[in-house]
Amino acid sequence: MGVKVAKFGGSSVADVIQIKKTKEIIESDPDRKYIIVSAPGKRFDGDNKITDLLYLCYTHREHNLPYEQLLQVIHDRFSSTATNLGADIDFDESFREISETLAEGCSSDYMASRGEYLSAKLIAAYLGYDFVDSAGMVFFDNKGKFLEEETNEALAHALENHERAVIPGFYGTVMGTDEIKTFSRGGSDVTGALVARAVEADVYENWTDVSGFLMADPHIVENPKPIHEISYKELRELSYMGASVLHEDAIHPARIANIPINIKNTNEPDNPGTVIKAHHEDKENNDIITGIAGKKDFTVIAIYKNMMAQERGFVRRILGILEDFDCNFEHIPSGIDNVSVVVSNKDLDGRIDELVAAFEKQLNIDHIECFEDMALIATVGYGMNRRKGVAAQLITALANADVNLRMIEQGSSEINIIVGVENKDFEPAIRAIYNAFA
Ligand code: ASP
Repeated sequence: MGVKVAKFGGSSVADVIQIKKTKEIIESDPDRKYIIVSAPGKRFDGDNKITDLLYLCYTHREHNLPYEQLLQVIHDRFSSTATNLGADIDFDESFREISETLAEGCSSDYMASRGEYLSAKLIAAYLGYDFVDSAGMVFFDNKGKFLEEETNEALAHALENHERAVIPGFYGTVMGTDEIKTFSRGGSDVTGALVARAVEADVYENWTDVSGFLMADPHIVENPKPIHEISYKELRELSYMGASVLHEDAIHPARIANIPINIKNTNEPDNPGTVIKAHHEDKENNDIITGIAGKKDFTVIAIYKNMMAQERGFVRRILGILEDFDCNFEHIPSGIDNVSVVVSNKDLDGRIDELVAAFEKQLNIDHIECFEDMALIATVGYGMNRRKGVAAQLITALANADVNLRMIEQGSSEINIIVGVENKDFEPAIRAIYNAFA
């Protein structure tokens, strides 16, 4: 018998119907022993996520506004779900405690974490599994930095004593204290990966409301093909460039323990979804590309200086200035007498003129040019590795779509090609690339 860790997102535990589906999925495979849950999500368009309501309660309290009614809405939602499921659990005591703690002045992390806490209590009662709290098992230091190894040890030790358990996602505690600390939003994915690593699971199943990853954003490309298999590395590239289904930090724990992640759809459990693992099974027959993702709103700052290539430390000084501005750089394509830095407009935060002035003052350059409103698009896939003509095919597709290519970069691992285009060409460029390869 194996061990599967299954994480169910907010939509999978949003209401009675969804929770019944979740139970059916869990019970259809006895290997599904460790279950991680999110707080209940939206039940319909326009509904509220429990986590958002909890943050709202906190904000009301912080501003001395009444919050009791809001808290009652959350209480009622949990209680009626429990009653309709016939689960043997009473939430009155929990809500009394939450209300008291809030009145005394708790942290927003504590408040937000109660969604996962109560959700796990409910699902554990409904399934007849043990409830095991993440507080005291998932650790952060007092600056809020996640403590990976300490957490792994504590989880492995605690879960040894539970054959089947439901664990709340999203939060833990500051080590050595009772202070609750959460991951960033969507962080239950991370808890799931941590549990998978700690119990040495055969697979980490991440149950959500989509059947895995698609090759491109369906808002841009009509009916994009699903991705059945993707490597951790490819996924990192795509997530970084904006493809989102799984929390970015959920990949690392699974990757170091070499545990495949299977993204599955609670509403379509027979769909195989997407499997994320170290390598593709069948490298020979891979499609050329695995996926396309991109982001808008970057600025390219092109710096020109005669004989730049001969000058030692030039790029280091550019990076030093970016550091002074607390700006990350995304790419630095360079030529003989020029180098460009690509920076996100978010990082620039309206300071482009100051940054240009700093470059001019400190670098003794000939000329500088800025191209704002640029988009970056990553085309990712192991299939590109050592295959001839891929970049040519991509550039031709863009040319045929009348897209002006402003920048192109290929990673030396040959699993990605990044192109820079103007924001206005973002969608047509993605469609052109998709149609060329998919
Ligand atoms: N409930 C939290 C959120 O809405 C965490 C999660 O669902 O993963 O962000």
